[in-house]
Amino acid sequence: MKYHRFGATRHEVPVIGQGTWYIDTGIPDRAIAAIRRGLDLGMTHIDTAEMYGSGDAEELVGRAIAGHRDEVFLVSKVLPENASIEGTVAACERSLYRLRTDRLDCYLLHWRGPYPLEDTVAGFETLQRDGKILSWGVSNFDVGDLDELWSIVGPARIACNQVLYHLRERSIEHAVLPWCERHGVSVVGYSPFGHSGAFPGPHTSAGRVLSAIAAKHNATPRQVALAFLVRRPSLFTIPKASSPEHVEENAGAGDLRLNGRELAMIDEAFPIGIRQRLPVL
Ligand code: NAP
Repeated sequence: MKYHRFGATRHEVPVIGQGTWYIDTGIPDRAIAAIRRGLDLGMTHIDTAEMYGSGDAEELVGRAIAGHRDEVFLVSKVLPENASIEGTVAACERSLYRLRTDRLDCYLLHWRGPYPLEDTVAGFETLQRDGKILSWGVSNFDVGDLDELWSIVGPARIACNQVLYHLRERSIEHAVLPWCERHGVSVVGYSPFGHSGAFPGPHTSAGRVLSAIAAKHNATPRQVALAFLVRRPSLFTIPKASSPEHVEENAGAGDLRLNGRELAMIDEAFPIGIRQRLPVL
């Protein structure tokens, strides 16, 4: 498993992590086994949110990581409607209770909402001072939002921006990714397989490019896709898988290195497209 430095934190975090949206909707024991298998394989970055299953995903994660807390880089998110100063603190405390832990490694604002950024940051700072979060970041922030936040907090404070990023949705590469790289903010790409069913099949011309590269590495097309999505030191990805078999396949991407020619082939098969406002899922 490859590791990258997470923003300005002191943490080296695995480039392939584990998402948990909808993980609570299947068979709980299977989902717990999947998360634990992921931990065994080095996918120790676990992403969850108070929104997922209205807390049920956090509860399931709490059960899965019981006895393994120190191995995990645990991330959760506050809903924008809770992100006042006191609301951020209270939401985090509810998440900690569900996750059966005393701290989060990183806490994110899920997307911009009604409260001024200053208030959410004040909530994050209170939590950080009390040791309940070790770092904080944002999600679904476009460059205008990032500029505004930077003007409030300055350097080395925003650990990451979690944004939509998969082979058919590369909009962040126009402006958000360069902004984050210039400012030392990690980019955590979500929905790396396009969330549901959008992964390019072997009968499409773009899918055939992935298959050809995969064959050379004794890998799978999904592993090639994940390796592409973490090809830069600023990038992380968090595929969600509720089956241990899927987790094993995804973890395999953590050791896959694509050469310049292969990256160029993928670049051509999945063009970045025109610049647009930051898309969200
Ligand atoms: P995703 O990871 O792109 O796709 C998940 C789907 O892919 C599931 O149906 C899963 O099936 C399947 N899958 C996973 N590994 C597979 C494999 N090796 N082979 C075949 N199928 C595989 O979608 P996502 O859940 O939307 O995104 C990932 C995570 O990003 C989320 O879980 C969440 O933590 C985060 N996220 C954040 C935001 C935000 O606003 N910040 C938004 C969306 C997502 P099984 O479950 O059956 O294994």
